[in-house]
Amino acid sequence: MLVKEAPYIWHNGDVIRWQDAKVHVLSHALHYGTSVFEGIRAYHTPKGPAIFRLSDHMKRFFESAKVYRFNVPFSQQELEKACIDMVDQNELKSAYIRPVAFLGYGHVGLLPPMDLELDVSVIAFEWGSYLGESTLEHGVDVCVSSWNRIAPNTVPAMAKAGGNYLPSRLICMDAKRNGYHEAIALDTQGFVSEGPGENIFLIRDGVIYTPPLHHSVLAGITRDSVIKMANKYGYEVQEKTIPREMLYLADELFFTGTAAEVVPIRSVDKLEIGDGKPGPITKQIQRGFFGLFTGETEDEWGWLEHTPRHEDSLLLI
Ligand code: PMP
Repeated sequence: MLVKEAPYIWHNGDVIRWQDAKVHVLSHALHYGTSVFEGIRAYHTPKGPAIFRLSDHMKRFFESAKVYRFNVPFSQQELEKACIDMVDQNELKSAYIRPVAFLGYGHVGLLPPMDLELDVSVIAFEWGSYLGESTLEHGVDVCVSSWNRIAPNTVPAMAKAGGNYLPSRLICMDAKRNGYHEAIALDTQGFVSEGPGENIFLIRDGVIYTPPLHHSVLAGITRDSVIKMANKYGYEVQEKTIPREMLYLADELFFTGTAAEVVPIRSVDKLEIGDGKPGPITKQIQRGFFGLFTGETEDEWGWLEHTPRHEDSLLLI
């Protein structure tokens, strides 16, 4: 899917035109994956655009940078404002927001000086549902990938860094090449981990399970939201090691993620999950999640950040 361009991008503190947001081909991150980033959604709500869990995403952004001892030359507050401004100034009703901090041009060695400041951009653009609009209703067919997730103490799974996504490419290709929408990856021990860009939930006998973080799982913000909402609905949610075969024996399965949102899984390795249709608990959680943006679900957690619209003119350089 081609990106839908917006007029402006926030780059190192300035607002510049989309087509002017360019980097040098010798940028460090391009060669070594030395970047950290976030994926955040803004939804159209009756009260105007609202960014979902902005401060939680930006907290994770700074935590990812901390693991790599990256020097981000802006505060969390400044970057949150940049996210709000990009939705606002690009006049987006809904958006996918991509803050990225990366080692830029100037050093070619693996370890540039530790105090070197990262370049930081915030890009916001319109983006529909990641796995396809109809999959939200009908679910996806997935396989278990022949590629594993990153091993513990190699590439840290809790840091959302550019380099983490090379295995995700292999996992996605595995799925697409074999005619599936998406794949589930196991960790290096053979236990269920997550999708290439989604966390996974499994329901069996009314209990909701999801793999704990030590199975090479990103601490997903949607994952956390679903756990909190499921608890509110009275479900028991357990973070538990999940063996591969439990996927096939699940009553219901679904993916969560900012891009993917809440997507039912209707089959794994061509075995139907339940009766092959999105199950009642999945549907309840999905309805509750999307209800946050229509106003049907009360935002009792304060997850929605409404974007103010500034009347003052754009700051253009
Ligand atoms: N796992 C991976 C590997 C991801 O890239 C993502 C997307 N950020 C997720 C899980 C879901 O996380 P979140 O709900 O915070 O988007």
